[in-house]
Amino acid sequence: MKVDPNQRRRLLKLGTTVLAISPLLAASGMSAAATNATLRGSLKYQDKPQGDKQCSTCLQFVPGKTAKDKGGCKLMPGDTEISPQGYCAAWTKKP
Ligand code: SF4
Repeated sequence: MKVDPNQRRRLLKLGTTVLAISPLLAASGMSAAATNATLRGSLKYQDKPQGDKQCSTCLQFVPGKTAKDKGGCKLMPGDTEISPQGYCAAWTKKP
C-alpha cells in the first residue's frame, strides 16, 4: 500500500503532538479524575460545607461508590471530584 507523502507527514506530526502532550495530561490529572474548573468558579464551589448545606444533601449530587467517596454533580459535567462535604451557590435541598 502506497501512502501519500503529505499524508504521512501529517500523521507523523499528529503522532508527535500526541506524544508531546501525553505527560501534560497525566500530570494535570486529566487522564483519570477530572474537575470542571470553569463551573466550579462560576458556582463558587468549595470542598467544605456551608453551615448544614453540603453536596450529599443536594438534589444535584451524584454519589461516588460509597457515602464518603467523591462523586459528581449534574450541574458540572465531567467533574468526578465533587466532595460529599462540598458546597456551591446552586445548592438545592433534596426532597
Ligand atoms: Fe454540590 Fe453545588 Fe452540585 Fe449541589 S449543585 S451537588 S452543592 S456542587
